[in-house]
Amino acid sequence: MKYYSLNRKAPNTNFQEAVVRGLAPDKGLYFPESITPLPKSFFETIEEKSNVDIAFEAIKQFIVPEIPEDVLKSIVEETVNFDFPVVKINEHISTLELFHGPTMAFKDVGARFMARCLGYFNKTNTNEVTVLVATSGDTGGAVANGFLDVKGVKVVILYPSGKVSEIQEKQLTTLGQNITALEVSGVFDDCQDMVKHAFIDDELTSKMQLTSANSINIARWLPQLFYYLFAYKHLKSQYKSIAFSVPSGNFGNICAGMVAQKLGLPVKHFIASNNANDTVVNYMNTMTYSPKPSVQTISNAMDVGNPSNFIRIQELHNNDFEALKSNLTSYSYSDKETKEALLELFKDHGYIADPHGAVGYLGAKKYLETHNDDHVVFLETAHPTKFLDVVEEVIEQKIPLPPQIKAVMDKQKEAIDISNYEEFKGLLLN
Ligand SMILES: *Cc1c(COP(=O)(O)O)cnc(C)c1O
Repeated sequence: MKYYSLNRKAPNTNFQEAVVRGLAPDKGLYFPESITPLPKSFFETIEEKSNVDIAFEAIKQFIVPEIPEDVLKSIVEETVNFDFPVVKINEHISTLELFHGPTMAFKDVGARFMARCLGYFNKTNTNEVTVLVATSGDTGGAVANGFLDVKGVKVVILYPSGKVSEIQEKQLTTLGQNITALEVSGVFDDCQDMVKHAFIDDELTSKMQLTSANSINIARWLPQLFYYLFAYKHLKSQYKSIAFSVPSGNFGNICAGMVAQKLGLPVKHFIASNNANDTVVNYMNTMTYSPKPSVQTISNAMDVGNPSNFIRIQELHNNDFEALKSNLTSYSYSDKETKEALLELFKDHGYIADPHGAVGYLGAKKYLETHNDDHVVFLETAHPTKFLDVVEEVIEQKIPLPPQIKAVMDKQKEAIDISNYEEFKGLLLN
């Protein structure tokens, strides 16, 4: 498969180069040259297939033969080796739990897949690759865990000191081996700026192969289409018409769902559920896209003012606003509404959600006001214990720590303090 840059000023490239580069030389996001629908029989017999077979069939066209079929199959096996349960909330709403992986966030799927692809390419490549990640919380842990022990790949994570939860910090700083955590005195934007600066620093890029592991990378973005297919397999016999409500920040997750739809998955509609960061809500109402600085909320993994994957969503709809509008609705919710939703889910349905999932639930309910014949699945993108302070305060109850989290809380934190770009660069060069 060839990939082109959405800025259209860079040469087309193959899967390997697109993964290793992350971003095209013209700073555009890579996009597959074609998306060929799967045969009808795939969906007719989906309930007879294993998750591994579903995922493998769906992603094959984007990756084989650059990664041979048997290798891709084992990469897929290792990527989806945990549960993806669909839990019924009521007659009209279910939730797809994406938090059963090692770091209890949906980002485990993309991170594990990307790590294994890079690991494969590095077998034939003697140059070590250094993955740089700036994180406001969830990404760092998932990436670190996904890349742990992958040969030929070093991971450097930058996180803002005191701005991530205790659990998140432990997940980033206790792995060791090929993972280095840098604790930056500053905010998330400072971490992000240092990473961006490194990519345009000629001295660094001439001495080392740098890549990024955020959702602009196709190897992190595309595998997220898997679990939309898994949810369909589960719900197909019960509901005629299924819509997805996706708590969205950079819009990589929802955009992967739209790729699944292009592959033939029958999805009635997508709902992008947002917190106060409402750039896309405004765009859908006004046709004017005006990015803004992000505002801080309790669903902080969605605090994004300029969602990087939105351009891929537009491309998937041939840059036709009306086509997009008929497939996507976007809503925005305040922290107050999010907390009320957490409480409602707990009291009325016995379900403990996290703040991101709660935003997804609100979007599902709103959509159902006018589409009562559909069944809406909201994606639960993180385990509630990752946002313990907020959730326990709202439901007025302690949540027991799951084993994955307990294990990491007992480990010793190891991080290097840095405060500016020069220190960061010095560390990389050593
Ligand atoms: C990253 C993240 C999101 C947002 O996903 P995007 O693909 O950036 O839209 C939502 N919820 C949680 C818990 C996350 O970590």
